Amino acid sequence: RFLAFEGGEGTGKSTQARLLAEHLGAVLTREPGGTPIGARVRDIVLAAEENGLVDRAEALLMAADRAQHVAEVVAPALDAGRHVVTDRFLGSSVAYQGYGRGLPTAEVERLSLWATGGLRPDLSLLLDVDHAEARARIGGARDRLEAAGDAFHEAVVAGFHSLAAADPERWVVVDGGGTVAEVAERVRAVVGARLDL
Ligand code: C5P
Repeated sequence: RFLAFEGGEGTGKSTQARLLAEHLGAVLTREPGGTPIGARVRDIVLAAEENGLVDRAEALLMAADRAQHVAEVVAPALDAGRHVVTDRFLGSSVAYQGYGRGLPTAEVERLSLWATGGLRPDLSLLLDVDHAEARARIGGARDRLEAAGDAFHEAVVAGFHSLAAADPERWVVVDGGGTVAEVAERVRAVVGARLDL
């Protein structure tokens, strides 16, 4: 099975992805940057403002990262019978490049599905943490939120919630509040209930 963690900054995605992958014995991966080519894409995208990266180019770079990621990491692992847990996937493109940057969300999704050859996660888990809490968690690295701006980040988070609401078969919202162990327990319960894992 293929599981994706999605959400805004400071929601604890990376920690929970790692814990779930350990629990399931799954391959742990991430976007952007899950492959050597992806790592170079990640550097470009993280410096989007300084580099003057335009929105459509950003969307295409994320799609390129995803195409490489699926071909090099995700599909071979699934083909070998492994479970795969990724820290971000298609939902992040629709939320950031679509809802955040304002590109048409259906086009961003179509581009992404072209990149993956139609592969979608069996389940995307949206970690839900309120804005003040996310900010507090980011702490020293909070310039990441400030650089993008609160309004942008709020549009992204609202976008994730729209995606989850529109496709309840493939999405689940998990309360990301509380301790790491508490969230991990909720994640395990949801994955057990939804995918029998
Ligand atoms: O969560 P992670 O640190 O991997 O995300 C890196 C950054 O890439 C995020 O801060 C987010 O702003 C950006 N990103 C993006 N579009 C995506 C995925 C990530 O702008 N599709």
